[in-house]
Amino acid sequence: MNAQPAALTALLLPALLPALLLTACATGGGGAKPGGGADGGADGGDGGASDGGGDTGAAAGCSGDPFSRASLQADISRLASPEWDGRRPGTPGDAAARGLIEARFACLGLEPLLASGEFQEPFVDHKGRATANVLAALPGRDASVAHEVVLVSAHLDHFGRGRLGANDDASGLAVMMAAAQALAAGPGPRRTVIFAGFGSEESGFEGSEAFVTASASEISPADVVFNLNLDMVGSYSQTDIVYALGTMDGTPGRRAIDALVGDFPSLNIGLGDWSNESDNVTFCRRGVPYLFFWTEDPECYHLDCDTEDRIDYVHLVEIAALTGALVTALGDTEDDLGGAVRRGEKVCKG
Ligand SMILES: [Zn+2]
Repeated sequence: MNAQPAALTALLLPALLPALLLTACATGGGGAKPGGGADGGADGGDGGASDGGGDTGAAAGCSGDPFSRASLQADISRLASPEWDGRRPGTPGDAAARGLIEARFACLGLEPLLASGEFQEPFVDHKGRATANVLAALPGRDASVAHEVVLVSAHLDHFGRGRLGANDDASGLAVMMAAAQALAAGPGPRRTVIFAGFGSEESGFEGSEAFVTASASEISPADVVFNLNLDMVGSYSQTDIVYALGTMDGTPGRRAIDALVGDFPSLNIGLGDWSNESDNVTFCRRGVPYLFFWTEDPECYHLDCDTEDRIDYVHLVEIAALTGALVTALGDTEDDLGGAVRRGEKVCKG
């Protein structure tokens, strides 16, 4: 999650956001988000491509129930461990987190996305920090729509220096990997699904921007027809709601989730609002519909207290199962996702 300062948001989205809304709560759910914003540290590239150390636990997440509390907790505990210190871009903790995601993708049998055969797409962010996206594909099984890509994303970076980012966004990464495990175990959807751990989100959606502008992928980023983004999904109990942002009336995401909400009666799902505060921005500004799962965390957003012990696993397992169902539904839908992109339907906000 990256609550942009208004000026930076204006730079990123020059034509899309009325000034009136720049500082408003993107959810429409009442009040501005808690502070935060850009990573304030003058932390230039501090290198560190080395493994942050030890067993990543990747293999443990390749079997069993992907949506169990134990599985999700194991991933969040590792990703948000003090040893990995918040996965700040360019640090050993960042490299270790990328290593965990890559190993998970590999043991699930997913395909590397890059033409080089690598899972990691390196880039240098605007602070000079060398980091990477971790990208894998589950090829579509229906030749008529396999060229269309449903992208499931979460961001792998946080601030470090004591800010461990358990909710922001180890929770999203854990759910993204759980969905990958669930889909890899099945027949696979009609469309191609790409799973992405994006780097340097907190400094301005830099990993997702690098992804869409790169030419190293086997699959063109221009073929992405839907983005399901997960950022801060572990704090449901703070406000007793999970937002499914970007689900304005008439959008493909709204149609897909409307068909599933009845299966998850324990979740209060906020529909219809929009957001300009995570990697979904990179896609919506290019006309790609999105659905962004987010739970508010007024107490610990971007603070040292965003730790694993605060994660609401009771609801996280439900959000993870809903995510898995939604990815399958979007992958298989008869809805013309590609057509929605080509027609330039309004997808960034209401
Ligand atoms: Zn954040």
